[in-house]
Amino acid sequence: NPLATLDDPILALATAPGRGAIGIVRISSPQPLEGLIHALFGQALQPRHAHYLPFRDAAGQLLDQGLALHFPAPHSATGEHVLELQAHGGPVLLDLLLARCLETAAPAEGPAALPRLRLADPGEFTRRAWLNGKLDLTQAEAVADLIDASTEAAARSASRALAGAFSQGIAALRERLIELRALVEATLDFPEEDLDFLEQARARPRLAALEEALAALRARARQGVLLRDGLRVVLAGQPNVGKSSLLNALAGAERAIVTPIPGTTRDSISESLQIGGLPLHITDTAGLRRDEDTADEVERLGIARSWAAIAEADAVIFLRDLGRRGQPEYDAADARIAAGLAEAGAHTVLAVWNKADLLDTPPPEGALSLSTRSGAGLEALRQRLLQAAGAQPAGEGSFIARARHLDALAATAGHLAAARALLDAPGAPLELLAEELRAAHDALGAITGHTTADELLGEIFGRFCIGK
Ligand code: GDP
Ligand code: ZN
Repeated sequence: NPLATLDDPILALATAPGRGAIGIVRISSPQPLEGLIHALFGQALQPRHAHYLPFRDAAGQLLDQGLALHFPAPHSATGEHVLELQAHGGPVLLDLLLARCLETAAPAEGPAALPRLRLADPGEFTRRAWLNGKLDLTQAEAVADLIDASTEAAARSASRALAGAFSQGIAALRERLIELRALVEATLDFPEEDLDFLEQARARPRLAALEEALAALRARARQGVLLRDGLRVVLAGQPNVGKSSLLNALAGAERAIVTPIPGTTRDSISESLQIGGLPLHITDTAGLRRDEDTADEVERLGIARSWAAIAEADAVIFLRDLGRRGQPEYDAADARIAAGLAEAGAHTVLAVWNKADLLDTPPPEGALSLSTRSGAGLEALRQRLLQAAGAQPAGEGSFIARARHLDALAATAGHLAAARALLDAPGAPLELLAEELRAAHDALGAITGHTTADELLGEIFGRFCIGK
């Protein structure tokens, strides 16, 4: 249980494993590190100064020369005492350095002040930073998202979340919510006051403004989730309509196998690309015939997987062949696929006709037409995909967010809506209203990880002149 050992000093290689120009060993400890520093270097380090020093093994043999930096608590990334050793980036050397730190810190021989170090768990430095109030939860999550960002837009918006863009939005909402709760709780505590009091205190417009601000933040967070997780798109359609060709055209590379033989794409082939900075995970399905149409075991498996992918996709491109349109057998098979898509619960289905280069017939009303061969219509399809996802161009205001944040924001909105219904219902008990507002507050606090009852109490007594 890692939570039981948060008092331990920890160490880890902070740089990526493998060879590199520089490798950094980082130590974070709730206890002061002067003893360890002295044992390692035989001297003290001036706080927050870079010292160029020899790194030696236990026998005093030189391992490397590098930089040592000491950040005494609380002025460090984790809020604890931190020691950073920057050496050359050789894996063997860095292992020796880690081992040297671990054994130097062991309490067997050395002074009692030496802490017992252990290797850090994943994310443990960031978790300590959060526990010590250096970051809130959304910022801690943004650290991970910044490191994992797959597009420039995702990296920039993770960085904005880390800088507090999301946290500040939540904080502003919480402030308004606390004011409103304080009003309602005060009314509860003083029974001679009643709903008129809430009316005078403009509880209703306050709640309306709060809901509006929440809706705006939800919209931004939704964009943030798109930026982080991207859009899952499935290419569906009969064999030979050009699915593989379209995947290749969108990816700009010859990845999927394109052949004139129906059913060649045996399995799903996925490709990750970007549209306007938004990650797009696109899957080319095996020809969507129904299972009974084919005897091949491998192909059947591929088809089953395709239907599963369709149910989970944010958008489905239903690709058809303009050249074969009007042929009874072809149209009947398309109709079966359309029915299958509806049955599978596909969210957004874009009807797209391919091979527009073959004839001048315009596509049916409301459908897109394109040619993977000439490239005509591809840009329009990209725009339609962004539109279908509700994605906006990654702008200054976006910050990275996660599905968990959206869930919490939705829960908050639900409680606020319930609160509004109670305010509007004549004779509804104030306790229920107070309860919905408390639940909304908790849901918001879950996002940043710091809902506390004390905070609310302080606010109530700080803002209200009870003796009046
Ligand atoms: P899939 O089975 O749906 O993946 O279809 P493919 O991408 O393998 O393409 C089937 C055939 O249609 C190939 O011979 C392609 O060259 C051809 N094809 C694909 N797109 C177009 C297009 O826009 N115009 C024309 N004329 N042929 C196309
Ligand atoms: Zn194919």
